[in-house]
Amino acid sequence: MICPFPEWLDLSTMPLMSRSRSANAFPQLRPYQTQAVDNVIAHFRGSDDPAVVVLPTGSGKSLVIAELARRARGRVLVLAHVRELVEQNHAKYLAYGREADIFSAGLGRKESGRQVVFGSVQSVVNGLEDFASGDFTLLVIDECHRVSLTRDSKVEHHAAVSGKGDRRTASTYEKVIARLREARPNLKVLGLTATPYRLGEGFLYHRHYHGMVKGPENAFFRDCVFEQPLRVMVRQGYLAEPRRIDGAMAFYDFSQLMPQRNGQFAERDLNGVVQGNRATPQIIHDVIERARERVGVMIFAATVAHAEEVLGLLPSEESALVTGATPGPERERLIAAFKARELKYLVNVAVLTTGFDAPHVDVIAILRPTESVGLYQQIVGRGLRLSPGKRDCLILDYAGNPWELYAPEIAQARPDGESEPVQVECPECGFANTFWGKRDGDFVIEHHGRRCQGLLFTRGQSPALSIRAQSHAQSERSNLAGESDAGAGSGAVESRHQCTFRFRFKVCEQCGGENDIAARACGHCGERLVDPDDKLRDALKLRHAKVLRVSGMQLEATTNGRGVPRLKVTYHDEDGETLNEWFGLETPAQQHVFARVFLRQHLRAPGSGWRPGSAEETAAEAGRLRAPDFVIGRKSGRHWRVEEKLFDYVGRYRKADAAGAEA
Ligand SMILES: [Zn+2]
Ligand SMILES: [Zn+2]
Repeated sequence: MICPFPEWLDLSTMPLMSRSRSANAFPQLRPYQTQAVDNVIAHFRGSDDPAVVVLPTGSGKSLVIAELARRARGRVLVLAHVRELVEQNHAKYLAYGREADIFSAGLGRKESGRQVVFGSVQSVVNGLEDFASGDFTLLVIDECHRVSLTRDSKVEHHAAVSGKGDRRTASTYEKVIARLREARPNLKVLGLTATPYRLGEGFLYHRHYHGMVKGPENAFFRDCVFEQPLRVMVRQGYLAEPRRIDGAMAFYDFSQLMPQRNGQFAERDLNGVVQGNRATPQIIHDVIERARERVGVMIFAATVAHAEEVLGLLPSEESALVTGATPGPERERLIAAFKARELKYLVNVAVLTTGFDAPHVDVIAILRPTESVGLYQQIVGRGLRLSPGKRDCLILDYAGNPWELYAPEIAQARPDGESEPVQVECPECGFANTFWGKRDGDFVIEHHGRRCQGLLFTRGQSPALSIRAQSHAQSERSNLAGESDAGAGSGAVESRHQCTFRFRFKVCEQCGGENDIAARACGHCGERLVDPDDKLRDALKLRHAKVLRVSGMQLEATTNGRGVPRLKVTYHDEDGETLNEWFGLETPAQQHVFARVFLRQHLRAPGSGWRPGSAEETAAEAGRLRAPDFVIGRKSGRHWRVEEKLFDYVGRYRKADAAGAEA
């Protein structure tokens, strides 16, 4: 393995004389930018795994890329999806006093001879043979959240899920990576983004360097090696403070809209809400009022028709509209006028999110629903650049978007209005997970976590890993005499894996292993997990089986026929049918069994460690427990016994309305 960063040319270690001279030649990196570069280099010294760096909009991503390209020994290809970004990144590199190539048809340049090439992905994929010599050691993908990739490269599958808009993007990046890797299998791939999540896929990397698992196991990017939170950028004064104004009098109600299969809202549905909506004049009036002392206002409209209506309500001499259909030169003229502050209001429909840079913007008005937290943050990010005289940026949301202003710890949408991020400690490894949930004071009463996100470190276990590490060490030795800090050469192998504790799970009937509640095949034995719909259908056919669509669950501290205290659990459906379960809770052994067979599935905040000591205590705390969606009973002699309880049900059958636990 040839590490692309074998040599250190670190300003801080250079002699003072040349350092002060260099300081004039080289842009100075901010501390977090230096840290990002160092972390990337450290990562690629020990690993070929694709990595991600998360830097908020306005944090100087281009400079980080430039510094990495400068320090790399082999050749570097920096890809972006729009030519504006290609130009921006290229310009920052030139600021180092170095030369670099541009490969972009849109910019009229197709050069690929120099050590560092900045390319637009579309042009590069059409000229792939220029990049197939095998001397590219590092591929940098800017705005990598736009790329849908998985480890096993099932691009077509993902493209089909996320809609045809992504198919082109996905397959182009895929082709470039495949070709470069063919020529150089240990190509290093680095992604940069401000918003490391994809709609419907969650976090786009698997592991985070703070010791947790975020994205799926098959994520193409394996590690997030550096993240600078937006909140810290604001606190340290690198970005303007976003000031969200809540409690606007007029707003749109998009809550009834359902995204299409591609995850986006249909234009027709959006128009159904906004077109001719009586709130629009009030909203625009509100925007104008609040922006009275402000200089640059960006308004994000839901549709073109909506944007035109909005434009008609703004002072005409100070306002303009940019849509996807605005011709290039016209768009550039309008944007230039806006940047020159000849225009105060710039209305747009989803076009001015990436790469648009007008630092003076101090009001962002959102009049559209945003399908993902990433999109919401990109919109907000347009207003956070520093500019002389700017104190903060007003964020006016007239669409009730449910997203956090700052980077969320949870990529999923908030499940309901009352949920908030809650900390849940893993009972197995102690990791403090953050999930959506509900609190009562300090006490977490419910959460939606499925699996612990803790990352566990073990040393020297997997033989496969040792072999890999050995070959690493060998190639390190042969290629770089004297380099022994790759972490692999020392003999000890460190492997990382996600904690296996599951808060919610589905049990495999073959092997008893726990699986994710949405899994279709068992991750332990490979058997297909029985579809809950098959279970329900089969049970409904049987005379000696009974299916309850559970509308309520009742807990009662009572005694059995011999006068011994028991907890009686009654499930009932909408028609008054019932099934019962009985539990003893007198001895520690009984309490242990109860925790295993009942609590683990019924707790609304699983993993909380709550262990009731009696039937009374359980009944009194029934609010901690949830009812199953369905209960299947089977006749055994003269009695019915509960055979199976289905939780977290998703399928063809209707669930009962508002099932809950009552004491
Ligand atoms: Zn854990
Ligand atoms: Zn199994």
